[in-house]
Parts: sequence; structure tokens; C-alpha cells
Amino acid sequence: MVLCEAEDGNMAPLTSSQREEFRQMLLTLQTELKAMVEGRSSGTRPVAPDSAIGRISRMDAIQIQQMAQANMRKAKQRLEQIEAALNRLKGDDFGECAECGDDIGYPRLRARPEAPFCVLCQNRREQGN
Ligand SMILES: [Zn+2]
Repeated sequence: MVLCEAEDGNMAPLTSSQREEFRQMLLTLQTELKAMVEGRSSGTRPVAPDSAIGRISRMDAIQIQQMAQANMRKAKQRLEQIEAALNRLKGDDFGECAECGDDIGYPRLRARPEAPFCVLCQNRREQGN
């Protein structure tokens, strides 16, 4: 597939080697998160009563489990974003904010290649506006 690069000058489209770099990052993340979500990593097993010594350590164990469940939710959410980002990479709109259409920017994508929004839109969403 031959894609026409935008040449209107006000955008710096990602090069094909940058896109390939992000594709590899996303695939690695996807593999790691899938392993976690499918329970192949430690820390997400149910709390067994006999694994706890006394009340406090059971409380701790429950707290740890709740944290693990919260992490699991985040991992699943992130996995969805990664799959969406991989789909965007197949087309032309990877690296564009899904909200305002601006470039997300190479440094931000390096830190979070699955990011669907630019920093401004992400902040706005986190503040609930
Ligand atoms: Zn935006």
C-alpha cells in the first residue's frame, strides 16, 4: 500500500520508521498486558483464607487484591486503547488526537504510543469537563 504523505507544511507526519517503531512498541505492550489480563502474572489470585496469618495480614491481602483488580481494569482499558491504536496505524490517522484532530506529538507517543488524545484534550477529559 502506498500512502501519500501530507505536504501541506503545517504538520510533521510520522515517518514510516517512526510508525514501525510505534507498531513494535504497541505489540510488545499488547503482549505484556494480555499476559497480565489473562492471569499469567502474579498478584491477581483470589485471597485464600489460609494464606493469611491473622487479621491484619488478611486485611492487607484484601487491599492488595483490590489494588490488583484496579490494575486489571486499567490494563484492560489500556489494552483496548492499544488495539485501537494498532488499527489507526493500519490507516492514516495514527498520531492524531481523536478529539481535536491535532498531532499528538512524537514525544508523547514515545511515552504512550496508545494515547488517543493530545495532552490538552487528555487533561480536559481527566478534569471531567
Ligand atoms: Zn486534542
